[in-house]
This record gives sequence, C-alpha cells and structure tokens, in this order.
Amino acid sequence: MAIIVQKFGGTSVGDIERIRNVATKVKRELDNGNQVAVVVSAMAGMTDQLVGYTREMSNRPDPREYDVVVSTGEQITIGLLCMALHNIDVPARSWTGWQLPVRTDDAHAKARIQDIGTEKVLADMAAGRVAVVPGFQGVSDDGRIATLGRGGSDTSAVALAAALHADRCDIYTDVDGVYTCDPRIVTRAHKLDRITYEEMLEMASQGAKVLQTRAVEMGMKHHVRIQVLSSFEDTPGTLVVDEDEIVEQEIVSGITYSRDEAKIVLSHVADRPGIAAGIFGPLAEANIIVDMIVQNVSEDGATTDLTFTVPRGDMDRAVEVLEQIRGDIEIGDIISDPGVVKVSVIGVGMRSHAGVAQRMFQTLADKGINIQVISTSEIKISVLISEDYTELALRALHSAYGLDAE
Ligand code: ASP
Ligand code: MG
Repeated sequence: MAIIVQKFGGTSVGDIERIRNVATKVKRELDNGNQVAVVVSAMAGMTDQLVGYTREMSNRPDPREYDVVVSTGEQITIGLLCMALHNIDVPARSWTGWQLPVRTDDAHAKARIQDIGTEKVLADMAAGRVAVVPGFQGVSDDGRIATLGRGGSDTSAVALAAALHADRCDIYTDVDGVYTCDPRIVTRAHKLDRITYEEMLEMASQGAKVLQTRAVEMGMKHHVRIQVLSSFEDTPGTLVVDEDEIVEQEIVSGITYSRDEAKIVLSHVADRPGIAAGIFGPLAEANIIVDMIVQNVSEDGATTDLTFTVPRGDMDRAVEVLEQIRGDIEIGDIISDPGVVKVSVIGVGMRSHAGVAQRMFQTLADKGINIQVISTSEIKISVLISEDYTELALRALHSAYGLDAE
C-alpha cells in the first residue's frame, strides 16, 4: 500500500460543492488501494478576510493573537471535508495543528515547522480512516497557535508527507501542472511530466508561482515526490522529483519571465575599493533587493558604469537612496528605466552541455533584440531586455530550445 498525502488549495475547497468534489478525489485514492492523509487550505478568500479583521482591530496586532484569528479558516475546511467524506461513507476525522502536533518555532505569523507527530495519522490509516489536517497552522514552543505565513499550506503538506515517508504528495490546485512557458503568451507551451526540485525553485522565484518555494525546498531536502495537478480536471499533473528520476533530461526545461524589474544605471562611478559596498550597503539597509549586477569601464577609461536591477515597485525609492549617497561617492548620472523584463532559460541539463547561452544570445540577436544585462547560475541564464519584446523573445526562445508542442 502506498501512502499518499493529498493537499487541496483554497480554490479547490472554495465552496460546499467543491468540497464535495474533493471528497470524491479522496475516495478515489482510497479505492485505488492507497492510504491517504489530507491537508487543506482555508476556503478561497477566507484568510484574506480574517487578516482584514485583524487590521481593522489593530495597527500592530500581537502576532500570537493574529495567528489565533487567521488560523481559523483551515479549521472550518477540515470539519466540512470530514462531513463530506462521511456523506459518501468514507471514515474520516479531523485534527488541528496542536492536536497532532505540528510543532513550529515561535516566529508567529511566519513560523517554521520543526517536526510533526505522526502517531495519530498513522493510527487512522491503520484503522482505515482518513486523517484531515489543516495546512498553515501549528503550535509553537510556547504552546500557542502559530501560522506559517501566507501560502503556507503547501509547506504543511510536504512536511507531513516527509514525516510519514509518503510515496507522493499531491498538490491539487487551479492549474494542471507546470508548463514550459506561460501558455497565455506561448500557445505552443506544453505541460511537463517531470521537473527537478532545483528547476522548480528557479521557476517559482521567476514568477511561475505554482508551489510555495519553501514547500519545494522541503521536498528537495527530504526527497518527497510532489505532484502538482488540477482539482477540476482529470489529468495527470507535473511531478517534482530528484534529478535521477528523470530519464531523458532536456537541456532546457522551461523559460520564464518577470516584469517586476527596473534597471538602474550609474555612470562614471569612482573606481576604487569600497565603492560597491558603499552603494549596495545603503540599498540593502533600505530593504531593496538587488538582482542582476554588471560593472564595466566607462568610456573615459578612468571610472566605471554600474548597472543593476531592483523590483519595479522599489525603483523610485532606490533612486532616492542613491541621490543621498551621492555626496560621499562620486556618481555621474543616475538613470532609471522601468520598461524592462527579465527572461530566463532554466534547465539542469545546461550543467553538462556547452552552447546553451550562445543559443539564447543568437536567437535574440536574430530577432534584433538588444540584451541589456546578463546573469547566470549553474542551471539558469537570465537576460534583461526591453519590455516591448517580451512576447517575441519568449516565443523565439521556446522554439529555439525545441520546446514547442507538435
Ligand atoms: N490559507 C492560507 C493563505 O491563504 C494558507 C494557504 O492557503 O496556503 O495564505
Ligand atoms: Mg494556497
């Protein structure tokens, strides 16, 4: 018998009818001969509403009381799902986070799971019952209810799957898997059967927000096979797995883009030790995350030009910070440009293949698209280009790497 953890997100349990639908998916897994534990989110919109109440009540709520309020959405869903299961003669019972317990640290509102007591869930399984567990919540060291931060139910599910040594953790959501590119832009994008944890992490941080990043990290650490699939369609989803589970690894698995970028160019910056620290230190203090960075010699040969990217919403603030340090550090012009997009090709296969970056550069050159900044990691190449060419670049690259569906 395989152990499967099924997780259903907010839209999957969005109303009573949908919760009934979830119950049939649980039953089907049992009918397949598997042992099942279920993790659920709050009904769609519920957590937002609860957060809204706390804001109305207080500008700075005690985080422990905030957690008491916002954790309640999931408690509603565990009870309702158990009732739906009873309606179709599936034995089931609910457990809250503190009852299991799901132990967390005491960083309330953004707590991390430390360990999960599996005794009760295993006993339920042995007795042929389905344990239904709330995502997002646990109990902290000090015995108080804690929540994991928004979107935390994915992490709850993967953590439970790890603790149970489950064969698979199925994350049911409103998309049917992970695609080679955004199908709204590249119509020939196709669903991936499998993807590695590392690639998924790169995809997630690139805006393909299918799974919470922490859940993927946890899956990678504990080798939990995660499947992302739709609760509204009956098709297999995408499996997120270790690299050795992928037999025919493509060189590039996916292409992502992020419009949440702005470029800042500092021209004629003094060229001596301590300058980069003097510029990026104050930006970090202002909590501005700098992503791509390039430095090169200015046309006068004596100073340097420094180009980097920040989240678009932080651009104006970044410029303000830079204006302030101008007194201490010689900077020529400060030029900011929000009209850029970052396009990335991702694939673990590029570790062992030459020419992957070159294909990207050549493809963009053939389309007359100018590359403004480049950055690379072991499994990713990113370029910054003008936002006007987003669609053209994505489609051209998707074809160039052989990802187009037939
Ligand atoms: N209900 C929580 C939220 O909306 C946790 C989750 O759904 O993952 O953030
Ligand atoms: Mg969610």
